[in-house]
Amino acid sequence: MQRQPVVIANWKMNGNRQLAKQMAEALREEAGLLSQVQVAVCPPAVLLPAWQQHVFYDAVHLGAQDVNEFEHGAHTGEHSLALLGEAGAEYILVGHSERRQHYGDTDARISAKVNAVLDYQAQQLKVVLCVGETAAQREAQQTTTVVQAQLSAALEQVTAAQMTHVIIAYEPVWAIGTGKTASPAQAQEVHRFIRSWLQQKYAAAADTVPLLYGGSVKADNAETLFAEQDIDGGLIGGASLEPDAFVAICRAAVARS
Ligand code: PEP
Repeated sequence: MQRQPVVIANWKMNGNRQLAKQMAEALREEAGLLSQVQVAVCPPAVLLPAWQQHVFYDAVHLGAQDVNEFEHGAHTGEHSLALLGEAGAEYILVGHSERRQHYGDTDARISAKVNAVLDYQAQQLKVVLCVGETAAQREAQQTTTVVQAQLSAALEQVTAAQMTHVIIAYEPVWAIGTGKTASPAQAQEVHRFIRSWLQQKYAAAADTVPLLYGGSVKADNAETLFAEQDIDGGLIGGASLEPDAFVAICRAAVARS
């Protein structure tokens, strides 16, 4: 099945209003490209309104880096789906390894967040579920066991119909922000595993789910990664802060379409 390539920028706790303007301008110059690749930018939530001004006429989508699983209430410092949706977010990252490692995102919380995004009635949102193993887990040959456990916990209550709103990002923890990229063959192997796991649980609905690779994707390695059969695009951290590099990565994804 032909899936449209997807490239998502994760700015983490970086960027500012000026970078939002520069990046939007760089993407606007590539308007033709945006009809062939789904491009989304997840800036820090406070920059969503700045981005909204720039992307209004463009086909760039916005996203958030995390969400609180509750609707509203006494959750100091957190953002609800209603707040993020109002600020223009259509994609919500869930289960990023930095949140799993440092901010208490357990499997149970991740599952609650996935369900909250998919059950949100006010607006259709997409969840970008991040999974991936640490270096020690890879060395101990536990990669697929770890990824499978993360998938089955996060998607436990998700139905086949809801899978049209799910994107999965395979992000080996050892490759995130380290400059060590998984080789195309290593990434493809795990993507293939994820695709077959999804097919077992969701049958044909699994084929609509874009599988993104994340972990030190740069302008010069994107094309070989995206050439692999089960890699439908990328989740990009560091390189998404450089307009030229990010645009080049989006172009590399077009080659796949
Ligand atoms: C990420 O944080 O999702 C990521 C992939 O980061 P980087 O591209 O910098 O490795």
